[in-house]
Order: sequence, then C-alpha cells, then structure tokens
Amino acid sequence: MIITLMGAPGSGKGTQGRSLASSLGVSYLASGDLIRRAMADRSRWGEQVRSYIERGQYVPDEDIVPVFLQALIASNPQGSRIGGVLDGFPRTTEQALALDEALRDFSPSVDQLALVLDVPEDVLIARLSGRWLCSGCNASYNVQTHPPIMVGVCDVCGRALMQRVDDRRDTIQERLLVYATSTRPVIDFYAARGSLKHVNGDEPELRVRESLLATARSAMPVSR
Ligand code: ADP
Repeated sequence: MIITLMGAPGSGKGTQGRSLASSLGVSYLASGDLIRRAMADRSRWGEQVRSYIERGQYVPDEDIVPVFLQALIASNPQGSRIGGVLDGFPRTTEQALALDEALRDFSPSVDQLALVLDVPEDVLIARLSGRWLCSGCNASYNVQTHPPIMVGVCDVCGRALMQRVDDRRDTIQERLLVYATSTRPVIDFYAARGSLKHVNGDEPELRVRESLLATARSAMPVSR
C-alpha cells in the first residue's frame, strides 16, 4: 500500500510519517528531505531548487516529479510491489496524477490511502516559528513546547541544532498560503475517490501516532 501523508507545514508529517512507516515495517520517503539533502550537498539540482525553498514556494512540478518518483522506485526492492509512507508528495494535483501514472506502470495493483493531519493555523505558526532540528539525526525540538536539555544541542545524538531556512515568520505565511491554494485540491482529489481519511494532529504526539496507525490499519486490505 502507498500511504500519502498530507497536512499543512508544521502539522507533524515528518515526525509521524517516520514512526508510522516503522510501525508498519515499510519504507518512508519525504520530498522535503530529498530537497534539503540536495541543497546541503550543493548538487546542481539542489542549487536549482534553493530559491523556491528560501521563498517558501513549491519547487516546480517538472523538477520534483521525476526526482521523487525515481527515489520511490529505488526505495523498493526490484520486483516487489511499490509501497511505503510518502511525506510531502503529491502536493499538487499534477503530482497526484503523475503518481497514479507511475503506479499504473510499476505496481498496478497497489492500494492508495491519503491521511490528512488536521491542525489549526495558530498552532502551526507557533510550532514552525519555534522549531529547531538536529543537523545529524533530524530530531525536532520546539523552544516553547519541547526544548532540548542543552540549548542548541540534540538530546539524542549531541549534534548542533539548526533552524530551517523556510521556518522564518514571513516565509511561514507564504507556505501556509501555498498549501491552501495548491495542496487543498489534492485533498479533494483523494476524497472524491474515497481514499482519504482525516486524523486530528492537534493532540499529544503519542495520541496522534496511535490514531494514525489505527486509521492506516483499518484501511488496509484484510488479506495482506
Ligand atoms: P513542510 O511541509 O513542513 O513545509 P517539507 O519538508 O515537506 O516541509 O518541504 C519543505 C519545502 O520543500 C516545501 O515548503 C516546498 O517548498 C518544497 N517541497 C517539498 N515537497 C514538495 C513537492 N512535492 N512539490 C513541490 N515542492 C515541494
């Protein structure tokens, strides 16, 4: 099964997506991680997409679609059906259609489920503007709600914490706007197909984790 995790910036897709994938024993693939890795490596593609990220805009479909789909196919052993938790893709209707087409070609019988994490806008803004991430293991902290034991240092691996370039207040507003205009239609797209479920993301992390897992399990075909 392909589980597409959807939700506004700051809704918890990264944290929850990783744990959902590990609970289900499937792979996890995040478009944002692919982009940030390419930017950190200063690859040609990373440099090409940097200006969009810094402005809080989406990377154009023609840049992200081939890179993401190639990574998705590569993340599944050859000959097996494609599956896993996708975080941040598809984010536009064009990307959803491109994913459909790739699945038709590579894994026609795969089931698709879209899970949306619902979080009110004021909570999203507070989470993003106070967010610090570990440069080593990607663990996420928040200056207000979940500070690290030592300022600027990861509790888990001891590496330095950093703020994402797109977590500045002005960029956050732009990202929320882009989400509302470009990604809400994708939610409607999967809802119309009957393959969409909502989960309340404005609850303690563990509660959200349990709800997501229960919702994903309840949507899985019984025979698998
Ligand atoms: P968030 O959802 O918290 O904003 P992500 O880590 O998923 O963060 O993505 C960071 C940024 O990378 C997005 O704001 C966007 O600019 C870009 N991005 C990620 N995935 C896509 C995608 N599928 N299509 C276009 N741009 C993307």
